[in-house]
Amino acid sequence: MFNSIFKIVYFIEFLVAVIVRKAFTAKHRKMDFAVDKKSTSDIVLLALDGIGMTIPLFYIFSTWLDFADYNMANWVGWIGTGLFAVAIWVLYRSHADLGKNWTPTLAIQKKHTLVTNGIYKFIRHPMYASHLLWAIAQILILHNWIAGFSFIVVMAPHYLLRVGNEEKMLVAEFGSEYEDYKQKTGRVFPRF
Ligand code: SAH
Repeated sequence: MFNSIFKIVYFIEFLVAVIVRKAFTAKHRKMDFAVDKKSTSDIVLLALDGIGMTIPLFYIFSTWLDFADYNMANWVGWIGTGLFAVAIWVLYRSHADLGKNWTPTLAIQKKHTLVTNGIYKFIRHPMYASHLLWAIAQILILHNWIAGFSFIVVMAPHYLLRVGNEEKMLVAEFGSEYEDYKQKTGRVFPRF
């Protein structure tokens, strides 16, 4: 089943990331939207993100994808392991700071407040940054053309499409407050 230490390492970090996500999102079942910008393309891309994130499980628990393995030095895998740990920490921090304002699709809730503190003081999209770090870590840890790259190929275009629409929606809702916040923060790379 496990033919490489990196499959075990990846699986453990994947589980921790899923637990962090669920710990925060399970509480937010009922959402009352004031603005709902859900689109078919966003939902399709969300589903594809989910597939991209879970293809590694098929790689870890079966031999189906082994034909696409390639050789890479072990230290690359350990760098990926560290990067995945950073991604999990950023995911944790962004959920803790965004609190009940989190939504899976683009929306403004009835009791929505603009968060500009915590990790959001430095970066406007830490959760998407954590997904990007996760996707890069996946490539570095899993030395397989399919399982390594399955998340980045969907999350990168999804992020590009979503972040502009999200900021337009937040400007429409919070006006100059969000414009000022934009001046002081980085989009996906932190500004200190
Ligand atoms: N893009 C953010 C949040 C992802 S969750 C991140 O990467 O961390 C998506 C929802 O978060 C959007 O529907 C939007 O309404 C909300 N949102 C994004 N930035 C916000 C902020 N600074 N304060 C409050 N809500 C925010």
